[in-house]
Amino acid sequence: MKSKSDVRIAITGGGIGGASAAVALRHAGFNVNVYEQASAIKEVGAGIGLRPPSIRYFKKWGLLEEIERVTHKSVLIEILSDKGDVLLKEQWPALTDDPDEKWARLIHRADCLDTLINAIPSEFIHLQHKCKSIVRHGDYAEIEFENGVKVEADLVIAADGIRSLTRQLFFSQAAPVFHGYHAYRALVNDDETYGLGTEDTLRIFADDKVNIYLLPLKYRKQVSVDITVPHHDPTGRPNVPKEDMLNQIKNFHPDLQKIAENIDYWDIRALYDIDPVHQWSNNCITLLGDAAHSMLHNQGQGANMAIQDAGILVECLLEADSVAEALEKYETLRKPVCHLFQNLSRQFHNDKEETFFPEKEFFEKTPE
Ligand SMILES: Cc1cc2nc3c(=O)[nH]c(=O)nc-3n(C[C@H](O)[C@H](O)[C@H](O)COP(=O)(O)OP(=O)(O)OC[C@H]3O[C@@H](n4cnc5c(N)ncnc54)[C@H](O)[C@@H]3O)c2cc1C
Repeated sequence: MKSKSDVRIAITGGGIGGASAAVALRHAGFNVNVYEQASAIKEVGAGIGLRPPSIRYFKKWGLLEEIERVTHKSVLIEILSDKGDVLLKEQWPALTDDPDEKWARLIHRADCLDTLINAIPSEFIHLQHKCKSIVRHGDYAEIEFENGVKVEADLVIAADGIRSLTRQLFFSQAAPVFHGYHAYRALVNDDETYGLGTEDTLRIFADDKVNIYLLPLKYRKQVSVDITVPHHDPTGRPNVPKEDMLNQIKNFHPDLQKIAENIDYWDIRALYDIDPVHQWSNNCITLLGDAAHSMLHNQGQGANMAIQDAGILVECLLEADSVAEALEKYETLRKPVCHLFQNLSRQFHNDKEETFFPEKEFFEKTPE
């Protein structure tokens, strides 16, 4: 392989996946440029749980203190009935070789992205660069952006999300899959949950079809409220009245209904993922994060998988003799676990389930 500083690396997409890849590459001594279509890098949506394998990468990249400052540790997760009776209380499972790492660090997605972006000098982030085509020439590729700029790269990392252009151009034309649900997301102050929120436990209130998540963001003094309800409208950002949701939570605890009624602004999205993609890479272009394996939020693994993709991709680059060899190894290592979580994430939670973490069975059966 060329020396690290001579490998030309372009990342398309500046979300959690692209930013993680840029941080990991810079930490390892590579030069990298990030091209993002938007005019500013920002993240919306909900709180998420960063799991120990992801936190280990923040530590490796020198960002442990920064990520700890904007997260707090959660040891338990609870499933409750619609009326608020606790049905299941579980510790987060250890996903590393350290059995004591049974926790998640809760964070808002925006704070996760900011922590990563702040570690990348701004001259390497190119906003308003929407990739419109990529042409492969042997062992390098040429990217053309809508603003007329063209760049050549020995490695293109496509972290351009669920509707990835690169995936469509090179690896799969299959369209994202709609699952018949709408997700409503909002933040409230932590004293506005009528005592139903906790300091550090993710609580999921469920009946047989509706899920209401209350995820505490202690360091922000806020709670992330995430409600998923069945709905037939597949529009990505559906223009539906909030009564559509309120009508479906009428049997839930009256205080949950009050929390939802009090919220004026909801981020509403139709829930999509993609079917597992069987090829992610060729010799100089690869997919990463949601572009490779967009999954529903039910197992809380989408951002975690993107961060871990970045960490492992860079480890493969450091060990391999060529970019092509590194990409082959990266894909071989990442596909099984990402496909597992894509499939498991298609199960919505309900008031009958026996574990929140069906992956435990897989990890116990096939220890690595
Ligand atoms: C409400 C919600 C809750 C979630 N909860 C969890 C959780 O608890 N745990 C967890 O791990 N994950 C969770 N996830 C999933 C997680 O947030 C995503 O999997 C993760 O953010 C994906 O990051 P990404 O960078 O791969 O994709 P994205 O965040 O989609 O970023 C893609 C970027 O590429 C840019 N882009 C797209 N096309 C182009 C183009 N042609 N040219 C240039 N730029 C382009 C976009 O503008 C965007 O900035 C949740 C997601 C949501 C929505």
